[in-house]
Amino acid sequence: MTTSHSASAAPAPYGCLHCTTAGSFKGDVSKMPRTCPTRTHSEVAADPSGYLGDERQALMKSADATPFKPDGTLRNRVEELAHYAHGRGMKRIGVAFCVSLLQESQKLAHLLHGEGLETELVCCRVGAVDYDEIGLPKAHPDRFAAICNPVAQARLLNERKVDLVAQVGLCVGHDLVLQEECDAPVTTLVVKDRALDHHTVTALRHAAAPIGGTPSPGYT
Ligand code: SF4
Repeated sequence: MTTSHSASAAPAPYGCLHCTTAGSFKGDVSKMPRTCPTRTHSEVAADPSGYLGDERQALMKSADATPFKPDGTLRNRVEELAHYAHGRGMKRIGVAFCVSLLQESQKLAHLLHGEGLETELVCCRVGAVDYDEIGLPKAHPDRFAAICNPVAQARLLNERKVDLVAQVGLCVGHDLVLQEECDAPVTTLVVKDRALDHHTVTALRHAAAPIGGTPSPGYT
């Protein structure tokens, strides 16, 4: 079985790739491009059934109530995390963090404790497993180098039966392993970006031009 797809068989991209109106935000069909999936795939895009179960309803209500404080000011992401956890009846928060963010993660625990939540922290280098043990090449083969160990992070958090896991600065790929291994749902508090002090949106805002290329015929 092959996993490759020929270019000729590729479907036209959804209109979001080139959209300049975000017309769906206001429900204004006249502003949606012809390739807008709200128009071309309405049976999927406009189907509310995925939100009507009790669990999904509860999640969506908590998520919707999270951004604003009672006085109308915005919560930062840490405050949102705590508010969401309370809204879902979650008491124990697992923090799977990158060793480079050890102090920040410990401060996170302090802040969450202040919000009445329990925490369990696990560092990415837990286990002190050498690169050699999983066959990864090392810059200095004669020296110990600990791998990032998201499998152990997840399994240690599973043992403590955390209700929710916040990942703090894990590498691309390691974050995926964490999500695969965790019993509890995983949310991202800090996205790892070594070059931009973890502010990845900076790379997007400063990009020279949209990356989508030429709009497909019939886009507008
Ligand atoms: S193409 Fe449609 S769904 Fe996508 S951003 Fe534009 S209006 Fe929104």
